[in-house]
Amino acid sequence: MSDETTPICSAKGCRTAAVWVLAWNNPKLHTPERRKTWLACDEHREHLSQFLGVRGFLKDVVTLAEWESRPSAE
Ligand SMILES: [Zn+2]
Repeated sequence: MSDETTPICSAKGCRTAAVWVLAWNNPKLHTPERRKTWLACDEHREHLSQFLGVRGFLKDVVTLAEWESRPSAE
């Protein structure tokens, strides 16, 4: 894995290329408009979404391509 430009899934121990972006916000730490992002492969998208969702942090789940096409992400 020498291509450092390839985004990798954020799930622990996973080295799969990411295809999803999970945008989230912890209201205790972040201002409301701030977006933290996790990356996820197909396999871990649901797992990571649930992790954030049960805490009420999850704001958005979009494909990596869509996220990167958005103006001024972050
Ligand atoms: Zn993964």
